This record gives sequence, structure tokens and C-alpha cells, in this order.
Amino acid sequence: MSAFKDIFEGSDAYTAEFSYDALSALPQARLVIVTCMDTRINPLEIFGLDIGEAHVLRNAGARVTPDVIRSLIKSINQLEVERVVVMHHTDCGAAKIKLDVLRTAVTAATGNDPTDVNFHLIAEPATALAEDVELVRTCPYFPVGTAVAGLVYDVLSGEVRVEHETFVS
Ligand SMILES: [Zn+2]
Repeated sequence: MSAFKDIFEGSDAYTAEFSYDALSALPQARLVIVTCMDTRINPLEIFGLDIGEAHVLRNAGARVTPDVIRSLIKSINQLEVERVVVMHHTDCGAAKIKLDVLRTAVTAATGNDPTDVNFHLIAEPATALAEDVELVRTCPYFPVGTAVAGLVYDVLSGEVRVEHETFVS
């Protein structure tokens, strides 16, 4: 029996009702959202967006890693996106866990210490968001004038706080 039986059944139900065959692959809101993998965040719903309107790039902590830059380059230069949102959130695991605790847990579970992995943990939330916005703003592979916002999503109220609004320059 598959470990994924529940989601395969979900897929069957989705397919039976599927109606998105006419969607474009171009994000209709010309928007990309970089956010955390936290289950409490529904990146489209919280902005009143629907399928087809935005790219969503997610990782632990919503950090602007080299792989996020890679995807942003495609999003902006090939898929007509003109606006980048970097959205951190309150109560983020990446800001709560310490590197030594994480390494100890991985070592206990696997016997291997992940010294070769950069976890991009968050020491100070406001500083981390400012750094991530700056990485986007100063990236030489995005056109000058691309809009960049740094936001914080409150997992208790659903509210989005605007911390930074700037442009690639
Ligand atoms: Zn998080």
C-alpha cells in the first residue's frame, strides 16, 4: 500500500472537477511571492489572488537563497513578472530553531551531521527580511525598476505588514 494513498485519492477528485485547462503559464498579476513553507500561509488566498495569477516560491524561512534567485531570474526575465514580494511571517520556525539543535536532531535521526548544508536560519527577523529584500533589490539580473516589497504575515490575525517597498536599481 502506498504511503501517498490519501493524496492520490485527492488527485482523482480534483481531476474529476478540473476546469483550468485554459490557464496561461504567465502570472496574470505579474507578481512573484517568495514565502515560507509554513502550513499556515496560503500565499494566494491572503492577497485575494487565484490560480494563474502569481508565481509562488517557498522554502524554510522565505529566504532569498541562490535557488530563489535562479527562479526569480526566470520569473522576471522570461515570464513577464514585474513585482517581487518577499514575505516572512510571525512565529517562523527558521527564527525559532538554533543551528546546534537542528544539527543534533539530524545527527540523532540519521547518524550524519549536516555540516555541509546552509540552513539560512533567522537570527533576527527584521534584519533577515531587510537582507532578503536587499538581495533582490541589488541583483544584477533583474531589470532596473522591478518593484520589490518586504512583508510580514501575521499567522494569528491574517494581516500583512509592509516593512519595505522599493525598486531594483
Ligand atoms: Zn516560517
